[in-house]
Amino acid sequence: MKKILMIATGGTIASVGSEHGLTPAMTGEELAANVPGIQDKCELNVLQLMNIDSTNMRPKGWLKIRDAVMEHYELYDGFVILHGTDTLAYTAAALSYLIQDSRKPIVLTGSQKPMGNPYTDAKINIYQSILYALDDQSCRVSIVFNGKAVAGTRARKQRTRSFDAFESMNFPLLAVIHDDRIIRHYNGILPEAKELNAYSQLNDRVFVLKLTPEVKPDIFGLLSGHYDAIILETFGIGGIPEYEDASFEKAIFGWVDAGKTLAVTTQVPEEGCDLEVYKVGKKYSEHPRILQAGDMTTESLVAKIMWILGQTDKPDEIRNLFYKTINHDRSIGI
Ligand code: ASP
Repeated sequence: MKKILMIATGGTIASVGSEHGLTPAMTGEELAANVPGIQDKCELNVLQLMNIDSTNMRPKGWLKIRDAVMEHYELYDGFVILHGTDTLAYTAAALSYLIQDSRKPIVLTGSQKPMGNPYTDAKINIYQSILYALDDQSCRVSIVFNGKAVAGTRARKQRTRSFDAFESMNFPLLAVIHDDRIIRHYNGILPEAKELNAYSQLNDRVFVLKLTPEVKPDIFGLLSGHYDAIILETFGIGGIPEYEDASFEKAIFGWVDAGKTLAVTTQVPEEGCDLEVYKVGKKYSEHPRILQAGDMTTESLVAKIMWILGQTDKPDEIRNLFYKTINHDRSIGI
């Protein structure tokens, strides 16, 4: 029988009502005990790593989860991580960079309604995550939620209330799960055990800046004392304002010429960014220190740049790592 380690971190799935609002209180053992059928499918052990609202999940929490998986890696066939949905996409992306090419599946799940709610989605999400983690075709980091399996770098929380909380952005679903049947939509190549690469350094000085009409380019100067990288969410396919005084050009080229990292993406959720299309973006497309996000999600950009800057500060290495496709995070050629 396969062995699965369930790592509990909190979230709505573990939450109970209090006079201050929902807060995680149920343990992983209690959650597992509420899901009929899983004990017959595998040998399941539970590790309670923390019990937090994922609003409070930070890079040091990602590293704690990473360490828990790596410490138990040889002993188990797969891992299921119970996590709040609000920042689950960030954690899944971070684990995709911290633990690369894992032959053993690392599956994140959670729920929109607490386990104690009579209409909860918690039971089916845990059940199907375990099924997915037990399947021989599953590998790397993924999210299983509402009957969908999404690559760990491609998820976005799209809905705050419905059970169908997550979408796979700019990439097909890995699979759909109907009751006990896993129907694969994407058949990737399974990594060899020797391909596993784990990392333990992150640089958390990464900021996401969303352009809005009349945002002041001075913001780059204000951020420079606190951050090493900015992810710039531009308009449309890659529009950056061209004011008469060229203040955006000065601020952006000033930022990268000072040795800092800039990744350019779009605030439009689907289909990605291409700076070459419009005059309002093209001048930035050739600069070696300006990285183009293509069709990556902002969640993955945050995690990838934290991971890259944790490994190196050399511009060439930053660039090479950035453009390398990891766990399906960017489409080749974009
Ligand atoms: N606030 C909760 C969390 O992210 C929401 C959820 O789990 O659905 O922990």
